[in-house]
Order: sequence, then C-alpha cells, then structure tokens
Amino acid sequence: MKVATIGEILVEVMAVERGHGFMEPLTLRGPFPSGAPAIFIDQVAKLGQPCAIVSCVGDDDFGRLNVSRLQGDGVDTTAVEVLAGEVTGSAFVRYGQQGGRDFVFNVARSASGRIRETEVSTQVLAGCGHLHISGSTLSSGRSAEFVVGAVEELKARGGTVSFDPNVRPELARDTEVLAILGDVLANTDVFLPSGLELTLLTGARDEHSAVEQLMGRGVTCVVVKRGAEGSTYHDKDGSFELAAYPVDEVDPTGAGDCFDAAFVTCWLRGRPAREALELANAAGARAVGVLGPMEGTSMWAELEVLRRRGAGAPRQGGPRVAPAGERERRLDGWVTRHMAGPVPAGLVSVCSAHEAVLESAILQAAGDGTAVLIEATCNQVNHQGGYTGLTPANFRDQVYSIADRLGFPRARVMLGGDHLGPNPWRRQPAERAMAEAEQMVAAYVSAGYEKIHLDTSMGCAGEPAHLGDEMTAERAARLAVVAEEAAGAAGTSPRYVIGTEVPVPGGILGEAEDIHVTSREAVLATFEAHRSAFARVRVVSAFERVLAVVAHPGVEFDNQRVFAYRPERARELTAALAEMPGLVFEAHSTDYQPSPSLIRLVGDGFAVLKVGPALTFALREALYGLDAIARWTVPGWSERSLAAAVEEEMLAHPEHWSRYYPGDPARQHLLRHFSYSDRVRYYWSSPPLCQAVASLLAQFGPEGVPETLVSQYLPKLYDRVVGGALPATPRALVLEAVRDVLRPYAAACRPAGPSR
Ligand code: ATP
Ligand code: MG
Repeated sequence: MKVATIGEILVEVMAVERGHGFMEPLTLRGPFPSGAPAIFIDQVAKLGQPCAIVSCVGDDDFGRLNVSRLQGDGVDTTAVEVLAGEVTGSAFVRYGQQGGRDFVFNVARSASGRIRETEVSTQVLAGCGHLHISGSTLSSGRSAEFVVGAVEELKARGGTVSFDPNVRPELARDTEVLAILGDVLANTDVFLPSGLELTLLTGARDEHSAVEQLMGRGVTCVVVKRGAEGSTYHDKDGSFELAAYPVDEVDPTGAGDCFDAAFVTCWLRGRPAREALELANAAGARAVGVLGPMEGTSMWAELEVLRRRGAGAPRQGGPRVAPAGERERRLDGWVTRHMAGPVPAGLVSVCSAHEAVLESAILQAAGDGTAVLIEATCNQVNHQGGYTGLTPANFRDQVYSIADRLGFPRARVMLGGDHLGPNPWRRQPAERAMAEAEQMVAAYVSAGYEKIHLDTSMGCAGEPAHLGDEMTAERAARLAVVAEEAAGAAGTSPRYVIGTEVPVPGGILGEAEDIHVTSREAVLATFEAHRSAFARVRVVSAFERVLAVVAHPGVEFDNQRVFAYRPERARELTAALAEMPGLVFEAHSTDYQPSPSLIRLVGDGFAVLKVGPALTFALREALYGLDAIARWTVPGWSERSLAAAVEEEMLAHPEHWSRYYPGDPARQHLLRHFSYSDRVRYYWSSPPLCQAVASLLAQFGPEGVPETLVSQYLPKLYDRVVGGALPATPRALVLEAVRDVLRPYAAACRPAGPSR
C-alpha cells in the first residue's frame, strides 16, 4: 500500500540561544529539511513503506536540500514541482527558556503556497491507497481546495485517510480554515489530534464526548498526542493510554509528525493498536531527542529497541537477497546525496567479519537512520571460502541474520567486496590466478554485493610485485566483464571502485618513516588507464558506474603511532577530483584518525572511509576491561583470564602476527595485545577464544557489571551507565565501545545532520 501526502516542504533555521523573538542578531543553526507533511512522509519511508509527496519547491538550494533528503530516504518525489522564480518555504524558530516557540514563517507566499493539481500529481495520487493530511497545509486557500478534492477522490475509490489537524491557535479562530478542516475531518479514518485540538475542532466539552461525536461521523480511530505525557487511543471497542518513553527533549518539532507516520504505517499493516501506539510513542520520543525536525526520523530497529528496551526483536523470514531495485536505489541515493547535497556526505565502510563489530555497525546505522556498508576482502571471503571459510553468499547470510535479529531491514544492508583480484592466488601463474579472480568476482556479484573494488595491481608468479597502470587496468577490465555478466544474470548493476595505490591492508609493515600521499599524476593515470581499458572490452556502462578511486591521503597508523590527516599535503591530489567528474576518493586505513580529520577528509572528497582494525581494537579494549573487572569480582580469575587465553592462542599460532611485530620478546608481547595494527582480530573466531570470551561474559550475573568498576576500567562508558542510557551488561558495554569508534565516522559522513 503506497502512502501519499500533499503539503509544504520547508527549511527550518533555528536560534541556538533560547529566548524570545528575533529582534536582535542571533546565532542560527540550519537549514534543516522540514515541513509537517515532509517530516511525516520521510518517517514513513524510513519504515520501508512505499510513499510519495505532492509539493512545490523553488529552484534553490533549500529545495534541493529537501528533495535530495526525501529521495535518499526512499520517498517518491516525482510530484514535487520545482517552480522557477519561486522560493522554497522557510521557518525561523526560537525556543523559549521554558519551552514554547516563536516562529517567523515564509510558507503561504513561498513555493509551498502554490501546491496545485498537475498531471504528475494526479498520476502519483492514483497509485496511492492512503493519504495523510496535515492541517498546516490547509491554511493556504489554493492548496486547501486541491487537498479537499484529492481526499474526496481517494475516498470515493476506497482509499483511507489520516489527518493531523496541527492547528496553531491563531488559525483556529479563522472560520474559513475551520470549515476546511471540517471537510477533511468528514473523510478521515485515522484522526491524530494533539491535546486541545480535539475539543477545539469538535466543539465538544470533553475528550470523551469529542471521541463519541467523531466515531458517529465515521472516524475509525482517534489517537490523541500529549507530548511528554504520552498518548491515548480510542476506537469503537474502547480506549487505552500509554506513557511516553522518558527521553531528554532537545527539540520538540516534528515529534507529532513522526508519531503520526509510525502509527499510520502500523495501522495500514494491520498491527494491533497497542503495538502501533507503542511504536508511535517511540517515534515521537526519538524525534524530540534530536536537533532538527526531520533529523529524528527512525527505522523499525530503533523503534523496537526503545519499545523493548533490548529484549530481543522479532525475527524475519529466512535468507533473502534484497530486491535489486532496493539495492541500487540505496547506493545511488547516496551518490545523488553526495553530489547534490549542500555539504558533501560520506560513506563509512566497515571492514570486519567479527559478529559483535557487525552488530555494533548495524545498531549505529539504525541509530543514524542510514544504510550500513559492510565489506569483505578477497583473502577473507571468496568462492573457495577464504581464511574465514565463507563464500560471499555465506558471509552475506551471516550479515543478514544479524540484521534480522536486530529488526534492521535487509534493504538497508549494503555489501561490498574489497581488493577483488588475483591476490589470494598470486603465487600461481597470472593466467591461473586471474581465472580464480574471475570466479571470485562472479561469486560476489551474484550474491548481491553492490560495491565491487577491482584491485589487480599485484604481480603473479614471475611478475614484478606491482604491475604498471596499463596491465593493472587491463586485468581490472577483464574482471569487470565477468562482473557485468553476473550482474546481468542477477538483475543488478554494481558500483565499482578502481585504483591500486593502497597502503598495506591493516596498517603498514614495521615503522612508518615517510607517509606517502598519492600524486595527482598517479591518480589521473590510473583513472585514464581504466577508462580506456574498460572501453576496449566494451564495458563503458560499467565505467559509468565507477564510484570511487582509491587514493592515499596520507593517513596511516603503525604499531604504536597514528599519522593524522594533513590537508595541505593532499591539496594537489584533491584538486584532481575536478578532472574526474562524478567520482570521489576512497581512503583506506582511516582507523584511529581524530574526529576533525575524518570531517576534513570527507570535505576534501575522500568520501568513502574504510575502517577495520580500530573496531576490533576497541572490541579487545572493552573485553580486556571486563577481564580486569573479573579479577576483582571472580575468585581465581587471574589464572584463567582472557588476556592469558589470547596470549596462549597467539603463541600457539604465530603466523598472523610474527611477521608484523618486530623487536625483542617483551616488545612483541606488548604488540600482540596492544598494537594499533590489531592482529588479535584473526584469533577471536578460534574455538579457545570463543570459549574464553563466552566464559568472561558469563561471569556477570543479572545485576550486571558493578558501576564502580565500570568507572575504573571502562571509564569512557561510565557516564552512560550511571545516567541509565546504557545497561551495565557485559555485552551492551562491548557493543557500545565499538560504536564509540563508529560515531565520529557517522558524524563526519553526514555533516548536514547532527550525529546521533
Ligand atoms: P508537533 O506538531 O510539534 O510535531 P504534536 O503536538 O503533534 O507536535 P506531541 O504531542 O508534541 O505532538 O508529540 C507526539 C508524541 O511524541 C507524543 O505523544 C509522545 O509519544 C512523543 N513525545 C513528545 N514529546 C515527548 C517528550 N518530551 N518525551 C517523550 N516523548 C515525547
Ligand atoms: Mg502536531
């Protein structure tokens, strides 16, 4: 069932300081995408419901900002008219000390005041079975007539209508507006007033008689919103009330619209009223916790987390690849947003196969309302199994099962394959190694991976260690041909990443002396060589889907040092982007970069940021924190500590670390456990360490980890535990520690909205 709304699209700009009015120069924050119908429909889209908005914007950045956000989140915006010579609507808002808001609106005289019936709008509305109307749209006479007509037309063909009166008190005195509100109300199935609106519109003395009157007029259910007090549900079978979820209110704007969207989506899907109201309350609560009216829209997983307070969300069906259409839209949506957005958006690529890391990444994406990009590398996952023993399809299903467990939609999981090329077979002759690489690439693409990094730079038996651009590009093109064939069969169109100048995966060998930055000439030569090689084998359309070129911005880490981004050293490189229209850079080894460096990297065009070792480093750190706590809480723990088990396992199987950690035994010992170039990550899946971790986590009973020891050994998490935002269970602490690494990435990748 496709949901439509008709109504205003605005930007909102808010005063940073609280107080009254706009009579003095103020610090302002914005523009944020806004407009009650726009917020509503964005929230509907986030819940995976097909939906569309009929609206108007001006041919300006405020309009583009809104349309690209809505589109990126999955709203059909074909019926958003861009009116030349008009200006997109805006609202300036200032919050009073004790709540309360002052507004300066430019809506009725903006593009939004000109919303009208068009051929496209008629067509889009004809494809929808439900229409949501916000009373705020009805204050402009012209649009109101169109809205009332559309409501009546939809009802006549058996559709349903939801209505949030959203009346500001000054409008409620306008009899003309009241008459129009009445017209819509007469056709409403789901009525969603807040507080006093109920009695105001019905003229009834109290809520009970108002509800009775409305039921008599054909309304199916009445849902009353009460801000921090929660909400009440009424239908012919009775009423019930639910308290709000306790949250810190940052910005109340948009709560009602998010609430409406979650409720209506549940209602359309036939979910029980109580569940629908719980989820709607959760959507409202999340919305008020975030600055910016549309910044607090949520996905199911986030609503469920709030609703169930961590008590396990429902499972979905068995493995299923997200339909091709959904997959493409996601990465393409990002590309559009990146290219068109007022501030460049980045994409964080999570390179890890550890289950807890993947769970943290999904939770973070759920919290940010974004998709999650998870990548596997050629050695780790390939058609023969790789060192994890997993094929691309196996790895995909593993990721999906985590997503399902968390209630995170598979459609928002993006998968990528990294360094796909002959590398795992490079000791064999080139022809044989390339034949394996072809099979691997086909396996990745057939399994639905949509981001494919072709890396054919390494020489095979009898060849130099690194091949020149020509040969590299020729082999990459050969793999692209295979990928395109597989994509044709699977009905997908993957995005490619090219480029070869990457640091050693997982950090440089030994000690860094001079950190390299890719030269402008090198990156342009790579680009040109690939372009002509792709053309020679007639996969020009694949080249058009090249998303990024890997380049080295000069960020790096070794065993114990981090080399932060120095923009001045990369200036020449970043200027080269202008010569590769439509492309961004992909940066590897961005682990441990301070937050300002990440922001700067994205701003400079290193829009895809890969992170891996820093995630397992944080995981190990949190586990060692719990290990240290267990020494105090579990008698005899020192003898069977996790750190001792790690040491034993690494010494028994030195192949994953001995070449990487120089120095005497004491230094190697320290590096085994504490190197930035984390190599413990290769050992977590071994049976002895799986068991050791399980045993550690099992040492903490239902009362969880004592707060005072969290303060001592996991101090970064202490405030959240004491504040009640984070349960002190060992697993929650570990997941949160990994998320703390992802947060600065999320913030850097989406500078248009505040980090959540
Ligand atoms: P608006 O029109 O400004 O978007 P509204 O008046 O339509 O708002 P509210 O009643 O403010 O809607 O909020 C809708 C729902 O969001 C509430 O019913 C409640 O579940 C949730 N909510 C709102 N404020 C809070 C809060 N401070 N704490 C927790 N939940 C809240
Ligand atoms: Mg409202």
